[in-house]
Amino acid sequence: MIDTKKRIVVLLGPPGAGKGTQAAYIKEKFHIPHISTGEILRDNIDKGTPLGIEAHKFMHKGDLVPDDLIIEMVKDRVRQPDCAEGALFDGFPRNEEQSEMFFDMEYVSTNAKVCAILIDIPDEEVINRLSNRRYCPSCKSIYNLIYKVPKNKDGDSYLCDNCGSELVIRDDDKVETIKNRLKVFHDTAEPLIAYFTKKNVLHIVDGITSLEEVFKQIVNILE
Ligand code: AMP
Repeated sequence: MIDTKKRIVVLLGPPGAGKGTQAAYIKEKFHIPHISTGEILRDNIDKGTPLGIEAHKFMHKGDLVPDDLIIEMVKDRVRQPDCAEGALFDGFPRNEEQSEMFFDMEYVSTNAKVCAILIDIPDEEVINRLSNRRYCPSCKSIYNLIYKVPKNKDGDSYLCDNCGSELVIRDDDKVETIKNRLKVFHDTAEPLIAYFTKKNVLHIVDGITSLEEVFKQIVNILE
């Protein structure tokens, strides 16, 4: 029998886990859109919509946008035709209340296979990956002193392969900032992980391997 269930994926993982790359692979292989609530909100802010104006009041302080606004925005998004075969959520649900609203949505509760996938990486590895990132302030290329080493140096400084500019460490990738981002990740993800475990939809993949190996584990779960 042909499986006609929608594939609904919730992707979880700390910064540096490669969520963005895996989201792109999943989107391509399973033909489902990548729905990032942060991106939709930023887009609404840029366009000055009523939702954007309201959301900005919270986002500029780093606070979460109220649950009722988020859920209406998500319900609206999944009505679009590209969500007919499923969707990949990134940044949603964000807390237990949103998780309950998520499972109550008709889109999720009807004819769907729901998989929450946690890309698991120990904190030390996240710190190791991100603190080795280097960024070109001119052409925005990203390097990594372990995985994608720039070819040229000038004294102690690394230079961009594309444009020759001196590479820098982004504020986001400084060790103290990384530790703070990890704390925020753990504080928000742990209740979600507990919730998805209770619902029997949590899958954990080993993130300390190549991008291809991580994707193979994800395909095994989704197929
Ligand atoms: P992100 O791009 O996922 O890091 O989100 C950027 C900002 O958008 C967050 O700091 C929140 O203010 C807001 N945001 C994104 N997704 C949600 C959500 N599911 N619930 C509440 N606020 C959100």
